[in-house]
Amino acid sequence: MTDQPSAPPPVGEMQEPAASEVRVALKVGIVVIGAGQAGLSSAYHLRQLGLAPGRDYLVLDKAPGPGGAWQFRWPSLTLSTVNRVHDLPGLSFAEVVDPDAVDVQASVAVPRYFAAYEKRFALPVYRPVSVTVVCDRGDRLRIETDRETFSARGIINATGTWETPIIPDYPGAALFRGRQLHAHDYKSARDFAGRHVLVVGGGISALQLLDEISQVTSTTWVTRRPPHFRDRPFTAEDGRAAVARVEERVRRGLPPGSIVSATGIFLTPALAAARARGALERLPMFSAITEDGVVWEDGRRQKADVILWCTGFRSSLDHLGPLQLREPGGGIVMTGRLATAVAKDRRIHLVGYGPSASTIGANRAGGAAARELTTFLGMAGTGAA
Ligand code: FAD
Repeated sequence: MTDQPSAPPPVGEMQEPAASEVRVALKVGIVVIGAGQAGLSSAYHLRQLGLAPGRDYLVLDKAPGPGGAWQFRWPSLTLSTVNRVHDLPGLSFAEVVDPDAVDVQASVAVPRYFAAYEKRFALPVYRPVSVTVVCDRGDRLRIETDRETFSARGIINATGTWETPIIPDYPGAALFRGRQLHAHDYKSARDFAGRHVLVVGGGISALQLLDEISQVTSTTWVTRRPPHFRDRPFTAEDGRAAVARVEERVRRGLPPGSIVSATGIFLTPALAAARARGALERLPMFSAITEDGVVWEDGRRQKADVILWCTGFRSSLDHLGPLQLREPGGGIVMTGRLATAVAKDRRIHLVGYGPSASTIGANRAGGAAARELTTFLGMAGTGAA
């Protein structure tokens, strides 16, 4: 990883700033925002379509180095504990990372793979550049960042969810004298030795962290709904059914919801062992947080030194706010073959959002978005920005 920005991109001519704007915008055909699985897949397909890197398309990424959000994941997430990182198109993971090295941290292995991928296909990734706001300027979109400002004919937004962890509001949260943190900031179970940890959430991350923390200290587990464990792993058919449900929601403009909440959680041998030692005794959500723990509606109390919120993430789309893409219910109406195009403005595609929020989904969606957007803009194979 490096803190040095990559060299400024070889973009097209300058666009004249409007009278009220002080910054000159650099003109590019398509800007891809984010260089995780979704952004890299999109960039690969734009390249395959014959677009010129830098002039016709450019990837902007906020992170200091390659790897998308994987570079920030907790150290105990290894290649054996992730579900599966699917190959990006055109280069297999196994060509870069020894597939038998299952104990390698995902935060090391995936960045190594992405770095090799960017290099192999000479993808024009410009980092660290954080997009702060995207505005509609008639026939072009203005993309403001913490560095240059860009002007593009279309964007593929692939900013994932890692930047926007969710911590729900509970009365008394500000009173708590212990430590509160989100899974986003979790590093190691050893940090909690000797302290009582209350783990909140019923997803895969909650269970993995509960499993490892409960091996070094005492824990309490609370979830909103009773968890739904399944005794067999997902089949490809289960995956397709879950994705179809989320796709149907976003086509109707509803918030996507999580794919996992639609599928249940596979009771792996590690989780079965955690259950056997009593670590998966789940309690319902408390009603308030106190100075030294939590309290339930019936008056029951639990002291805690740490509250670990494994309460998920939402799509990191705040920079698209001025485009007013959202419906009153908070969702965005999506259209196109794999529901990557925003129905209100087909110059904008969201990849890694809703049904494509997985490594395999991001791969396919990147291809669909690249083809549909270049066709819509009349850029396919022309190399014209
Ligand atoms: P990210 O990898 O988050 O990439 C987004 C990129 O956008 C980042 O590089 C970020 O820096 C950049 N960015 C964000 N905001 C801005 C901005 N404003 N300006 C510029 N750049 C920006 N999925 C699987 O398929 N298999 C798994 O095993 C798996 N395990 C997971 C484990 C955990 C703990 C979590 C949280 C998720 C897991 N997922 C897994 C989901 C998975 O990570 C994703 O579906 C996929 O990797 C996301 O890729 P992405 O490109 O959409 O997002």
